[in-house]
Amino acid sequence: MPSKRDYYEVLGVPKTATADEIKKAYRKLARQYHPDVTKEDPKVAEEKFKEVSEAYEILADEKKRQLYDQYGHAGVDSQFQNGNFTWNDFSHYGDIRDIFGDFGSIFDAIFGGGGSSAKRQQSQAGRDMRMDVEITLEEAFSGVKRKISIPKFENCSSCNGTGSKDGKQVNCPDCKGTGQARVVQNSGFGQFVSVVPCRKCRGTGRAPGSECPECDGNGRTQHTAQLEIEIAPGADTGTRLRVPGAGEMGRAGARNGDLYIVIHVRDDPTWDRNGADLYRDVEISFVQAALGADIEIPLLGGGKVNMDIPPGTQPGHTFRLKGSGMPVMNYNGRGDLYIRVKISVPQKLSPEQKELLYKFAELEGEKTSFLKFPKKDRKRKR
Ligand SMILES: [Zn+2]
Ligand SMILES: [Zn+2]
Repeated sequence: MPSKRDYYEVLGVPKTATADEIKKAYRKLARQYHPDVTKEDPKVAEEKFKEVSEAYEILADEKKRQLYDQYGHAGVDSQFQNGNFTWNDFSHYGDIRDIFGDFGSIFDAIFGGGGSSAKRQQSQAGRDMRMDVEITLEEAFSGVKRKISIPKFENCSSCNGTGSKDGKQVNCPDCKGTGQARVVQNSGFGQFVSVVPCRKCRGTGRAPGSECPECDGNGRTQHTAQLEIEIAPGADTGTRLRVPGAGEMGRAGARNGDLYIVIHVRDDPTWDRNGADLYRDVEISFVQAALGADIEIPLLGGGKVNMDIPPGTQPGHTFRLKGSGMPVMNYNGRGDLYIRVKISVPQKLSPEQKELLYKFAELEGEKTSFLKFPKKDRKRKR
């Protein structure tokens, strides 16, 4: 595999670029290389489009950008399977939709489907929909089932989906039966004239003679459907679940769009996460640090594990518990758990404890607040 270019270079922005500048640069490049509108060789454009999207995936996310700034590609490649960015990793579909308006077309363009976008839109297939679902880190750890409500369309029962009161169809008055409309779009690269399906008849060229009052001539009625989704253990922010056929309903028997569920994992006050690895702080006393101790570490998702703190452990020391991190989605393995030691210093001492510590200081030849040593005993240890 050829080595990856620097992400800042890919987007053509300086390392000090603001989030806004990064977004702007991405929008410009995404538009330039979008397979539907590019003037370049489609193969090259697709690769470029992926490259800028990968760079954006990392630089648009504050946490990932920090890792990248610190460690370069090695710091963030673990975000992708085998280090290779795929469309499943892309968590900024909202931005793509902002740019191109049509959420579905980018999937068709990248995953194949072919043809010009006007042609694709003319098909009666329903559009893809997106829904964002927030879960806790604990739910991400153990996996969770969620009930979600989605808008569901059905053929109108009173007109049998035709949209026509009397079942009769006539030539669409808007497009005179051609099914097409011309749209002029201005962009930074000049003017596009594109042929898009007529809105009223959605490209069929036919419209109901008199509209069905139940569905206002749409042929469909909307209600809410409950759907239970299962989020597998190991889901992370940006993980997408595809529910085939749960998107917008297709027309005239064409396929339904898909529903994409985008997962967001809420920040946890105790645990930090980077990919499959988990991090937490554990506080021990300065005596435990000095003498060593066997302590219990509570685990995410319940349970505990015993950890042996060796004598002389320093503040900030990090222990690694291999295989005790997050599960990896669709993979039989776990990340690691990193325990960082914080050392607590008692704020109140009993007279007896004080006496013992004075004694200790005396043995070390250390100066303390209330104890003065005779000059001859003041051996400075450095
Ligand atoms: Zn109807
Ligand atoms: Zn029409």
